[in-house]
Amino acid sequence: MSKASTMFSLGHTEIFRIEETRQLLPIAALNAEPALLDANRHWLMPNFLDAEGQFELVHQTWIARVDGKIVVVDPCNGNGRTRPLLPDYNHLDTPFLERFAATGIRPEQVDYVFCTHLHCDHCGWNVQLRDGRWVPTFANARYLFVRREAQRWGARRGDYRGAAFNDGIYEECVQPVIDAGLAELVDDYHRVANAVSIEPAYGHTAGHSILRVDTGGGEIFFSGDVFHHPLQIVDTALCIGEGGDDDAAAAVATRVRLRALIAERDALMLPGHFQQPHGGRIRRSGEVFTFVPGLPTAP
Ligand SMILES: [Zn+2]
Repeated sequence: MSKASTMFSLGHTEIFRIEETRQLLPIAALNAEPALLDANRHWLMPNFLDAEGQFELVHQTWIARVDGKIVVVDPCNGNGRTRPLLPDYNHLDTPFLERFAATGIRPEQVDYVFCTHLHCDHCGWNVQLRDGRWVPTFANARYLFVRREAQRWGARRGDYRGAAFNDGIYEECVQPVIDAGLAELVDDYHRVANAVSIEPAYGHTAGHSILRVDTGGGEIFFSGDVFHHPLQIVDTALCIGEGGDDDAAAAVATRVRLRALIAERDALMLPGHFQQPHGGRIRRSGEVFTFVPGLPTAP
């Protein structure tokens, strides 16, 4: 398997990670006070902060094989997209599908696709260009969209509030899936399979949600963009970029709630953008939370 893929088992669940691309950002994008950075530098470096004061935003898709089903979470950006406001995602040409194939899973075997939210870097490979048309990449899958999130980006209602960088994404990456009859709009709380459920984690976007899997050997939280960087686990007030969240206060409340829940459940968190080892657990000591990076070792 290529270096850009990771595979391990937890309980009765098999997990693969497909990496698409990496985006170098200054740590200043987190707007952290220098004192906070200094106090955490010892564990942030080198994976989460480099000597130049930068970190990599990793774009990755997670695949879970559980309950006899194959679930794809957050299919990255996609190739050949025109993203003038996002140079790092503009006209990408990555071997994402080849890396996917290296897992031994074929796209047509996928049962479910779940996008934690409908930003362009989480739903791109929902579709691919064929004969000049956007068609679903996972031809036999049910694509699960949380209704609240689909409505936030889809309906051009009176209260629609655009985000310039994400304009047209719904039409390109969601509408063709609906037109193909593969979309399922689901409620805030939705059971996908016995051990797999969708739950709200609003803030980053109006309908941002997470996928929770009970592996029988501990829980996994696919947390999307609740946290972009591990330092946000220490300080939940940190937000990436200016106006990076639809609702900043709700995003903070979600980070506060989820870090406590993940710590309490001793769950494995697999986020959308974390640097290697790409996931980990959260420990709580009183009101102090720490990130414990690490994935189970391959079987
Ligand atoms: Zn993202």
